[in-house]
Amino acid sequence: MQNGTQYVHAGAHPDPSTGAIMTPVYQTSTFVQEAPGVHKGYEYARSQNPTRTALEEAFARIENGRYGLAFSSGVAATDAVLKLLSPGDEVICSKDLYGGTYRLFSKLYEKFGIHFHYIDTSDLEQIQTTINNQTRLVWLETPTNPLLNITDIEGVASLTRSRSILLAVDNTFASPYLQNPLDLGADIVMHSATKYLGGHSDVIQGCLVVNDAGLREQLYFIQKSSGAVPGPMDCFLVLRGIKTLHLRMQRHCENGAQIAHWLRRHPKVAKVYWCGFEDHPGYAIAQKQMRGFGGMLSFELMDQRPETTRKLLSSTKLFALAESLGGVESLINHPASMTHASIPREERIRNGLSDSLIRLSVGIEDVQDLIEDLEQAIGS
Ligand SMILES: *Cc1c(COP(=O)(O)O)cnc(C)c1O
Repeated sequence: MQNGTQYVHAGAHPDPSTGAIMTPVYQTSTFVQEAPGVHKGYEYARSQNPTRTALEEAFARIENGRYGLAFSSGVAATDAVLKLLSPGDEVICSKDLYGGTYRLFSKLYEKFGIHFHYIDTSDLEQIQTTINNQTRLVWLETPTNPLLNITDIEGVASLTRSRSILLAVDNTFASPYLQNPLDLGADIVMHSATKYLGGHSDVIQGCLVVNDAGLREQLYFIQKSSGAVPGPMDCFLVLRGIKTLHLRMQRHCENGAQIAHWLRRHPKVAKVYWCGFEDHPGYAIAQKQMRGFGGMLSFELMDQRPETTRKLLSSTKLFALAESLGGVESLINHPASMTHASIPREERIRNGLSDSLIRLSVGIEDVQDLIEDLEQAIGS
């Protein structure tokens, strides 16, 4: 079955009691039992809720996986993966990480005795030399946020597989429409469903998808024990978002490509970060493991004075100045002071994330209007 058909039908079963074509919002905390321990598979809504079950099935389907798990946010999903570890364990991760992931790792888990190596994961040799007997997890983002660096998922899987190291991929930027990490050898795929899966900037949610039944049991145990589960209304919204993922992503990709090329030709723009350029260092791997290049890109102006960057950020009219990404509307963001402010400045600069970097989440509006908006803001 093709992707679009999967997205429309994933997790959808007519409601057994009424035939409702859409899974109802089961706004309930508990489920009545016929006799002690005799129930219909649902006991208490932290452990299971039918709206969440439908969504978890959809998550699995759209990532070509066997099991999906929904969480109250993307970071709660990441947190559940970290809870698989024990003090003394080591993690290898991309140095160009989502700010909230970096904060969770460095400010919370480091103090519980888990050690993190932040490296350039696009260099497989660096991964190989960092692996030791304590390595339990490799955590990748590809493409990375906000510099759009690419890591070869299959290449990393060839290093982790034989050593029983878990490989987890944050697939938020690509979305399942563009990339399926489990098919490339990853053990866990994570999404901030807040972004492309929800797609309408109206919900916070996270998900994990795995193939291994034992791993699913461990993660389900963590999900119900820690309790970071989404409510049924949020599950309903994400189920609805998934139905149009392919249509939205097609437009995000088209608009993203046009704006990337337009920015690159602009005399006032110094550099554009987008993995669809043929001279991008990760282009060949992106071609191999992705089906398109998405709607995320970053750029820097020739004039890198803070006031010029600030002026542009406050001059767009269609691009809203806001954190987050992946919604139908276009957003503009200043990583250094917004999404990535939790990363210490020296570390940020060392990783190539400058104070003048501007990130765009290109929406699904008519691209000419978006280009005109950027033109007037850059010229202002
Ligand atoms: C937003 C985001 C997260 C965190 O997800 P939340 O839903 O905000 O908790 C993780 N990774 C990436 C790449 C993100 O963009």
